[in-house]
Amino acid sequence: MIPFNKPYLQGCELVNIAEVITTGKISGDGVYTKKCHTFFEQKYGFKKVLLTTSCTDALEMAAILLDIQPGDEVIAPSYTFVSTVNAFVLRGAKIKFADSCRSNPNIDPEQIENLISLRTKAIVVVHYAGVACDMDRIMDIANKFNIPVVEDAAQAVDSYYKDKPLGSIGTFGTFSFHETKNIIAGEGGLLVINDDKFAHRAEIIREKGTNRTSFYRGEVAKYGWVDIGSSFLPSDIIAACLYGQLQNMDDIQNKRKELWNRYFNNLKNLTTNNGIALPNLSEFSTNNAHMFYLICESLEQRTSIISYLKDNDISSVFHYLSLHSSEFYLEEYEGAELSNADKFTDRLLRLPLYYELSFTDVDYICQVIGSFLSKKIK
Ligand SMILES: *Cc1c(COP(=O)(O)O)cnc(C)c1O
Repeated sequence: MIPFNKPYLQGCELVNIAEVITTGKISGDGVYTKKCHTFFEQKYGFKKVLLTTSCTDALEMAAILLDIQPGDEVIAPSYTFVSTVNAFVLRGAKIKFADSCRSNPNIDPEQIENLISLRTKAIVVVHYAGVACDMDRIMDIANKFNIPVVEDAAQAVDSYYKDKPLGSIGTFGTFSFHETKNIIAGEGGLLVINDDKFAHRAEIIREKGTNRTSFYRGEVAKYGWVDIGSSFLPSDIIAACLYGQLQNMDDIQNKRKELWNRYFNNLKNLTTNNGIALPNLSEFSTNNAHMFYLICESLEQRTSIISYLKDNDISSVFHYLSLHSSEFYLEEYEGAELSNADKFTDRLLRLPLYYELSFTDVDYICQVIGSFLSKKIK
């Protein structure tokens, strides 16, 4: 069976982890956490970054930093992972769900302005599959109403909007190093703070509401409780694993891009005239090859393809279920029908994509899809 995903670890992760364990400094903010911080600040020019235990936690920190209060409203796409909005719901926010674009699952900027009210405290956008949202358009709207933007860049490591790294454009950017992403640490995340005014408080919230980070830098004589907070910092063991991945980042990214291009080139002729669409890359975004997906003609077609692939030892999976019609939110949802989000819920299909997948595997998967399609057409 070709699995849908296989976490890739090259070996230097283990070397780094052994080093941390040998030195015995295994709690947070050790040597490897600093190395990771420096890597992201230098490679992408992020002003201030903090490793977190997950992207979910980075989003929760953003919600606390933006001082989201009960009754506040937050605009977000419906076609996303629960954490994108859960972080804000935990602070009491009401979510105003926006539809996706027609051509890809990213938030449709044209919908945002209609959803803005006096209570809107944040706009959260998701760079789905590592493909950039239309950030100039989104920042224009946000700046016009003076509303902060959070970029959920969980899938978007090493991807760019025009010449700007994703995660560097909004007030905050959040990344994930969960084992299903391009760069992994098992579980892990990163908060990017693009507005200096939040930098100091972010350190405090991440350290259980204490000013311990300032204390370690020698800025205060003792540390104590100064704000709300939680334990959002990962062990240096996690950072050591992550740094191993960062050391091999170009290799990982190049391989994924080659596999992605192979899928695209194999499938582009196969899929014309049978209702299947390939990923639509916008001219303003790079592709970090996080995901290769198809948009099927219908839910029925997708279900048949999944089972046909399974019969041929290939595991493929659908993705999000629109959050506005989830069990948790349906009763509270008062907005319009979100037909594009529902379309991707029913029709988006993800194919295997991971470092150790071979070109032969990709060719085989495409050949099986081709045989499915030729059978159905005749
Ligand atoms: C993976 C993912 C998350 C959650 O990341 P964790 O690190 O597992 O918390 C959030 N948002 C999106 C869009 C994701 O793909």
